[in-house]
Amino acid sequence: MNKKPMTLTAKVLWGMGLGIVVGLIMNISGLNDPGSFVNEYITNGLFWLIGKLFISGLMMLVVPLVFFSLVTGVIGIGDIRSLGKVGGKSFGLYLFTTAVAITIAILFGVVSGIGGSAPMASGAEFTAKEAPSLAQVLLDIVPTNIINAMALGKMLQVIFIAIILGIAILMVGEKAKPVVELFEIGNELMMKIVNIVMAVAPYAVFALLAKAIADLGLDLLLDLGGYVIVLILALLTHLFVTQMVLLKILSGMSPKIYLKKMKEVFVFAFSTSSSNATIPITLKAVTEKLGVKNSVASFSIPFGATINMDGTAIMQGVATVFIANIYGVELGLMGYLTVILMALLASIGTAGVPSAGLVMLSMVFIQVGIPVEGIGLVLGVDRLLDMVRTSVNVSGDGVVSVIVAKSEGKLQEDVFNDMNLNMDEEITIDRDTEKNIADMLEGFEKK
Ligand code: ASP
Repeated sequence: MNKKPMTLTAKVLWGMGLGIVVGLIMNISGLNDPGSFVNEYITNGLFWLIGKLFISGLMMLVVPLVFFSLVTGVIGIGDIRSLGKVGGKSFGLYLFTTAVAITIAILFGVVSGIGGSAPMASGAEFTAKEAPSLAQVLLDIVPTNIINAMALGKMLQVIFIAIILGIAILMVGEKAKPVVELFEIGNELMMKIVNIVMAVAPYAVFALLAKAIADLGLDLLLDLGGYVIVLILALLTHLFVTQMVLLKILSGMSPKIYLKKMKEVFVFAFSTSSSNATIPITLKAVTEKLGVKNSVASFSIPFGATINMDGTAIMQGVATVFIANIYGVELGLMGYLTVILMALLASIGTAGVPSAGLVMLSMVFIQVGIPVEGIGLVLGVDRLLDMVRTSVNVSGDGVVSVIVAKSEGKLQEDVFNDMNLNMDEEITIDRDTEKNIADMLEGFEKK
């Protein structure tokens, strides 16, 4: 029988489904109760380790990948004015989509009236976060030390350095050719490493989800049912309606193809709850499957992962209405406008890492006069909701990339529309290397 090998995407989807099922079984059966063997050695042992190793593998790639691909991207754009156009358009669209997202969130919150009849019980402790001043935000973009910026993974600073270096290379011209080659090769190497890391993705996705669900269970979701349902509905509406309508109107490309080709990216955002950790996969999908040229994607994807958080903004909008209702705080028109502005700023300031959005929520609360402890009420369910909103966050980055690329003539439409494209680059090792590795392993075993 000639069985077709499963594609990587299919394996990842299997990993996700099995992870959820196994996690649920462990949770419901009590196998994962604190102190049990399973809890100690499987969920908090093996699963934790596999998940952690995978996320570390992705995170280690983020800075060098963004750096190499953005420097090549800037060189590819060729002139500084078009670079400004790509930057300006991406930034404008990011702000716009996020503002629409918060408005949808508030509408959903207000219309459903969530929180109006909920008991007022404060949960866990929460420490507020102060809004940084505008001067501080600007100062944070220009690093005082390049190595430090990279070591700490400060994305806006890394983006800044890469753009300046790209521009300098363009200014030097012919003489800088070897450096251009160096960056092109570096970029290719990084993409290969992404493939290598991805080889373990199905197992890692399984481990991440099994652990998350085994630890949290679904009871929590039922407790705060109203909030969870309204939030998920608002998130899905934004993903499937707003973002897709914008994609269709502004780029003319097919939402159906977009969603299909981004499937894997959604799974990763969902399992890692981190837009940053997903950057390598988003970048690869957007350039290789959706046909966005690197000169646009290398800027808009990392920039978007850092500042564009539609899903987070939606959570902040719904949570604000929910908790304001619980505490009986009347928001009024001015209040809602303040929420829109603050959630916009808060989502821009949210780092693309798990739970960051919740921390920034306190900024919104302080501004509109809602007790910050209120966040404790949604703390328990946030880990699971974070998964959904992170997928919406990265989808927004992809949509804007396609739109900007189209308007700049940097979209390869034939690639976007080609459904038969080899979408999964499996890692292939040639026969000789395979034999060498086998010999080496045999040697180890003998020792
Ligand atoms: N986890 C989200 C992200 O990385 C941020 C958030 O907490 O909302 O995109």
